[in-house]
Amino acid sequence: MKHYDVAVIGLGMVGASAVYAAAGAGARVLALDAGPPGGGTSGTSFAWLNSVRKEPDVYHRLNAAGMTAHRELSRELGGDAGYHDGGSLEWADAGDEERELRERVHRLATRGYPAEWISRERASKLEPGLAIPHRVQEIAFFAADAWLDAPRLIGRLLAAAAARGADVREGKAVRFLRARGDRVEAVVVDDGDLVAQSFLVCVGPATQAFLEPLRVAIPVGRVPGLLAVTSRPAEPLRRVVHAPGIHVRPDASGGLLLGAEDVDALASNAGSPAPLPELAALLLERTARVFPAARHVKIADTRIGVRPMPGDRHTIAGRVPGFVNAWVIATHSGITLGPLLGRLLADEIVRDAPSPALAPFRPDRFLTAAATTG
Ligand SMILES: Cc1cc2nc3c(=O)[nH]c(=O)nc-3n(C[C@H](O)[C@H](O)[C@H](O)COP(=O)(O)OP(=O)(O)OC[C@H]3O[C@@H](n4cnc5c(N)ncnc54)[C@H](O)[C@@H]3O)c2cc1C
Repeated sequence: MKHYDVAVIGLGMVGASAVYAAAGAGARVLALDAGPPGGGTSGTSFAWLNSVRKEPDVYHRLNAAGMTAHRELSRELGGDAGYHDGGSLEWADAGDEERELRERVHRLATRGYPAEWISRERASKLEPGLAIPHRVQEIAFFAADAWLDAPRLIGRLLAAAAARGADVREGKAVRFLRARGDRVEAVVVDDGDLVAQSFLVCVGPATQAFLEPLRVAIPVGRVPGLLAVTSRPAEPLRRVVHAPGIHVRPDASGGLLLGAEDVDALASNAGSPAPLPELAALLLERTARVFPAARHVKIADTRIGVRPMPGDRHTIAGRVPGFVNAWVIATHSGITLGPLLGRLLADEIVRDAPSPALAPFRPDRFLTAAATTG
């Protein structure tokens, strides 16, 4: 039987990042995914790398550090690793929305985050295809933001890890973790057990159900979201744009990727979800108002992704409560945070070097909450 130092279960943005970092730290890594790597939420994500609406400050800083980790990783891997810089642009409806945006830009700039107001002329130079309403004289610009072709980066990370000896297996569903006392001993797959010293669970929206057999109750909800991909527009869009009622960015296919928060809610209405083609048409109509070249494109694909959403909406990263050799990462904003969290937990597992930055995000905070409320 092969001996592994670490088994990583789940190869989305988070797990693939951990596999890469652990293999880079010299560990013998077993990497498993039930399907193709990147075929979960990470393949159906808006994948905007940002820390623009991440509160409180400690969570904002974690996401900003996540953005730095992406820039470093992209330099380290070289070539096209899926990272697309250029910042993001945002404007809002007059009234409360605009006030909120002004306050947010001010707060972010005070914290040292690249956030500023630029003239509509400068915004039009950055994005000549945008039709910014005439009443909007200034646009918020977040210069360090980026977007990611996440499946591409996941592929690059796993290929690099495999070149360092990681055993990457796709189509290998883990039925459960076999434990004795406070130790996990093996992952159980259809054709037997696979043994490792340490285990890292990165199964995204499946986290809560996956940990239940270990009698570990970590609240991770499942929040669906809808994205539509269009055919290629005649005029290119270069960066992430947030306008009232729509967010849009270039898609890796050459088309546009469209989403809207209120449309997410319509798509996920459990009682009577609206038909997807109708919702995609609504997204396209809103896009054409701010990016007229979209009038001539077609919807090429409509995707529902399921966000892993921790009970208090903030990252969960650390030892599985009650076990000495098992760890878990479950997070929203996992595209922004994947490379950072993967590296921090690989350091903790392989080098026994826990990061103080993760102190507010440990899984056992839910035990404390349960104890005080129960
Ligand atoms: C519509 C939408 C928009 C979003 N926008 C953004 C954004 O702009 N920026 C951002 O940072 N984040 C965004 N997110 C959130 C982000 O996409 C997720 O937080 C992130 O993809 C989670 O990555 P993950 O690796 O944890 O999970 P996943 O990508 O879901 O990976 C988990 C993997 O585990 C595997 N798995 C599950 N169970 C098992 C098992 N039993 N055995 C083996 N393998 C298993 C699955 O096959 C899957 O490949 C968005 C999400 C959605 C849905």
